[in-house]
This record gives sequence, structure tokens and C-alpha cells, in this order.
Amino acid sequence: MVSMSIVEEKVLSEARLALRGIPGQRSPISLGDTGVKIGDGTLVVVAGPCAVEDRVQFFETAAAVKEAGAVGLRGALFKPRTSPYSFQGLGEKGLALLIEARERTGMFVVTEVLSSAEVPLVAEVSDVIQVGSRNMQNFPLLRTLGAVSCPVILKRGLASTIEEWLLAAEYILAGGNQNVILCERGIRTYEKMTRNTLDLGAVALLQKLSSLPVMTDPSHACGRRDLVPDLARAALAAGSDDLMIEVHVHPEDALSDGEQSLNPKEFMVLMQELRQIAAALGRRIATLDRIATLERSETRDPYRV
Ligand code: PEP
Ligand code: MN
Repeated sequence: MVSMSIVEEKVLSEARLALRGIPGQRSPISLGDTGVKIGDGTLVVVAGPCAVEDRVQFFETAAAVKEAGAVGLRGALFKPRTSPYSFQGLGEKGLALLIEARERTGMFVVTEVLSSAEVPLVAEVSDVIQVGSRNMQNFPLLRTLGAVSCPVILKRGLASTIEEWLLAAEYILAGGNQNVILCERGIRTYEKMTRNTLDLGAVALLQKLSSLPVMTDPSHACGRRDLVPDLARAALAAGSDDLMIEVHVHPEDALSDGEQSLNPKEFMVLMQELRQIAAALGRRIATLDRIATLERSETRDPYRV
């Protein structure tokens, strides 16, 4: 048990569900019907484009990240963009692509919701729902997510303290949804050259304080493709249960976050490095249950070639 000062204990006393369990021991969460569990000691890798742009971009990226060893596929349909004139995502009409990509690859799928209105539909389709940094304290949305059973990735707010983050998780947990995954994605500091500042101290601390699984998103944390592998390796060494990495078949043509997206070759190299680091730490990278994947693609994939 990590030792806390009286002040810290008081501050954190309201995050009673987020801090329950045996500190240091994870409460694993199952991801789709892949057999993969976050928090069981393996390193779960989720990869894919920032946004689902079109069928070819999404399926080619999905195939590439699967080949490199990712078990989860990310792709946003509802994009929180700084400018209203930037690409906002395919919206509801992209949900069919998520379903098809899951059936073709066997990976679990992760997509973001921006408002409570999207939750019923997305919870039915997606294996995991993401709450983005800008929505970490959207309390009505957190309450809505407390009422579903779909696992929720709760990204840390751009300028949120660990306490605020845990209390945001508490909203979902108190509503009855126990499947909350915390995601460190960098916080806004005075430093601009690295887009955000990755707080690996938070990842290490949460592993000691909470039994909720903790993941790290090195892509949004630094905003630069050349730094993503360094931060990903460091996050694994700091005890992250999961990494979420943006990958695009053609990063230079991406409609969002191309500068921080790895291309398939770079992602493949990173996965090899992660395997070596995981082995040194006595961990392994989570893999898909091949039999389940085959069964799924044989029975449910009408487009299989
Ligand atoms: C994303 O995952 O594409 C995203 C928008 O992340 P964040 O909310 O961390 O900025
Ligand atoms: Mn992004």
C-alpha cells in the first residue's frame, strides 16, 4: 500500500469506488469476445487511425495493426475538433465499418462518444467506449455511461489533476458500470514543443493507488511521430496495462492527427521493441484467441476473401 499523507487521504476519500480493491492488484476487464483482458498482467495494445475516414483507409490500417500484433482497433466516428471547420468524423454512418472491421479482424473495437445521445447506439455496437480528454468532466455523459455495461476508457482531462480524474471515474462506477479504464494522454503544461506533457508519474502512482486498469496514449501525449515509440516504451516500463497508439496507412494524408500517427512499418518495429521490453519485465503482449477469431470470421464475415 502506498503511504499517503493525511491531506492526500482526505482529498481522495471521495473516490471510494475508484480506489477500492487491493492497491497494486488490477481488477481485469474483458474486452469484447476476444478473450483479451486488460489488467491481467499482459500488455494490451490498441491501435488504429485517429478517425475512421473511409472504408479503404480503415480496413487497410486495421489489417496492418493486426498483423503487427495489436488486439484492439481504434477509430473515431465522432471527432472533438478544435475548429468547427475541421473534419468532424463519419458519425453514425461509420458504425457499420466498425462492425465489419471487427468481424474481419477479430480485434475488439474502441470508439469515442461526445454526448449522451450517442451512447445507446455506440454501446450496442462498440466493444469499448472512449471518453475523450475534453469530456472528462462532462458529468451528464459520465452518468449515462454509468448505466451501461460497456467498458469505458476515461481519458485524463487536458488540465485535470489525478483527484479530478478519479472522481470523474467515480461518476461512472457509482452509476453501476464497473468497467472503467483510466487513460493518461498527456496534460497541458507550459511546454508546447511536445503538444502535451506525458505524466508517467500518474501511471505509476495509479498502479499503486487504484485497482482500475491504467492505459497510456503516447500519441496525443507528444503529437510527434518521432517521439511516440520512446514514450510508448517508457509507458510500458512504468507499468501501463495498455497502450493506445495512432496508426494510419498514409499518415501524410490523414484527416486528423497525421503528424503523430505511425505508419504500419514504424508500428511493426515498435511492437517488436515492446515485446523485448515486456519479456524483460516478465510480461507478455496480449494476443488474440486465434480459434475464436477464426470461428468469428468463418461464421460472420460475408466479405472474407
Ligand atoms: C483521440 O483519441 O483521438 C482524442 C481526441 O484523444 P484526446 O481526447 O486524448 O485528445
Ligand atoms: Mn487523435
